[in-house]
Amino acid sequence: MSTDFDCRSCGACCCNPKANQAAGYRDYVEVRKRDNLVHSPLLLGRYAVANPQGAWHLQLVGDEQRCVALKGRLRRNVRCEIYDNRPSSCRQVQAGTEACRRARADLGMDS
Ligand code: SF4
Ligand code: SF4
Repeated sequence: MSTDFDCRSCGACCCNPKANQAAGYRDYVEVRKRDNLVHSPLLLGRYAVANPQGAWHLQLVGDEQRCVALKGRLRRNVRCEIYDNRPSSCRQVQAGTEACRRARADLGMDS
């Protein structure tokens, strides 16, 4: 049976990997200077947080340390609340790639 890489029923790559969590690392998704988010004080305040070095990253919430912009039920029915303004880091992960498979395996999903 082939794996269905449907992002709308996944959300795995929007969660901080378990290895990062174990290491206390929360700077999972960087918001770069060229990203739209940086130029919107409203979006930046709602979805991002600056680390002690002043670099912006997406806020993480909940037990899975999921991106605060990910709405819905993980592994079931999710959507990105800021899809059109999501950071460039998010755009680099494509369904079915190695990074995608790693993220899914991390959450115990078919990869
Ligand atoms: S890219 Fe892969 S891990 Fe990310 S939401 Fe889509 S299917 Fe899930
Ligand atoms: S901004 Fe959207 S695509 Fe990027 S990690 Fe958050 S929910 Fe996922």
